[in-house]
Amino acid sequence: MFDVKDLYQEVIVDHNRNPRNFGKLDPADKTLEGFNPLCGDRLTLYLNMDGEERISEVGFDGHGCAISIASASLMTENVKGKSVPEAEAIFNTFHTLLTDSSAALDLERVGKLAVLAGVRDYPSRVKCATLCWHTLKALLEGGGEPVSTE
Ligand code: ZN
Repeated sequence: MFDVKDLYQEVIVDHNRNPRNFGKLDPADKTLEGFNPLCGDRLTLYLNMDGEERISEVGFDGHGCAISIASASLMTENVKGKSVPEAEAIFNTFHTLLTDSSAALDLERVGKLAVLAGVRDYPSRVKCATLCWHTLKALLEGGGEPVSTE
């Protein structure tokens, strides 16, 4: 029988093996490092902006577990070309998906990000999946200090 979980697993494995938008942007308008000490995930996020309103390019590098890399890869695909408010709305949708187990899975809104919904049953992995997103949010809010999930 077809199992949707297998499909989700496949997407995560694929994005971990072949992360999209992996690599440093040079030059980059905005750069910030995110660290998840619980797991050891360490990612750096690079953004180029079209004015202050729109994300024109996004890239990341670093190392981490499969969940953190796949999540960052999926995130870059989702926020590239988006306005700052659109990117923040995607962040909020994704964050709710991972932290509120009663939240309905609105596939039309979350799209491929739904593959990470299974992580919400494993609180320690939620930090892996949300690391890149917290880093993005901090970067859009002005950057500054590296992000730590602890
Ligand atoms: Zn991790």
